[in-house]
Amino acid sequence: MRKRVGVFSSIHTQAHDSVVGLGAIGIVYGMSSLLPPEDRLPSLTHHRVLAILGLMTVLAVIYLRWQGRVWWCECGRPFPVSIVVQSEHNSQHLFDAYSLSHVLHGVLFFGLFWLIPNLSLAWRFILATTIEIGWELLENSPIVIDRYRQNTASLGYTGDSIANSLADIVSYAAGFLLARWLGLWKSVAAFVLVEITMVLAMRDNLSLNVLMLLWPIEAVKQWQTGG
Ligand SMILES: [Zn+2]
Repeated sequence: MRKRVGVFSSIHTQAHDSVVGLGAIGIVYGMSSLLPPEDRLPSLTHHRVLAILGLMTVLAVIYLRWQGRVWWCECGRPFPVSIVVQSEHNSQHLFDAYSLSHVLHGVLFFGLFWLIPNLSLAWRFILATTIEIGWELLENSPIVIDRYRQNTASLGYTGDSIANSLADIVSYAAGFLLARWLGLWKSVAAFVLVEITMVLAMRDNLSLNVLMLLWPIEAVKQWQTGG
């Protein structure tokens, strides 16, 4: 891990605080949905939604670059998709097998935020996106990268490229909108179908990903890496 000293350190800390602050603002706005209507959030126009999402994305890119993430795969080839998981191109081009997991994040978040009463779709989308971007940054922090390498199928993982992180966020957003379009039961069915397909095809999926990150099990690790 690289040393952080002097000016770099303070800028880095500020970037980190900005991201945390953004999350806190999101939580406060979410809580405001519990207030009586006259004290609630102003309704958002499409332009404002896009402006807020754009700002969060720019902050995320700046943060990822400071963390030392590369813009694109080291191979330099322009292919937008890389399917093979056990390859140095995984998580380095735009879309890969794990893009599906990010689509599922969107489906899950749509369901979760659907439970908050009196909150407009625009605000739900912004709050959920704040969490997704926060996760994407956390996923690319040295602590989580090391945990992934030790405990999961991601043996050579050195963090996503910035292009891949952005595409992950696009995949999440697609999942969020997909869930809205499908409704509850079709969304649940789609979720289960993707999870089963992924575990059969690549011995990894969102559920295993979360499990192995929080509570690593040796037997699962061996099964995932053993072939
Ligand atoms: Zn490549």
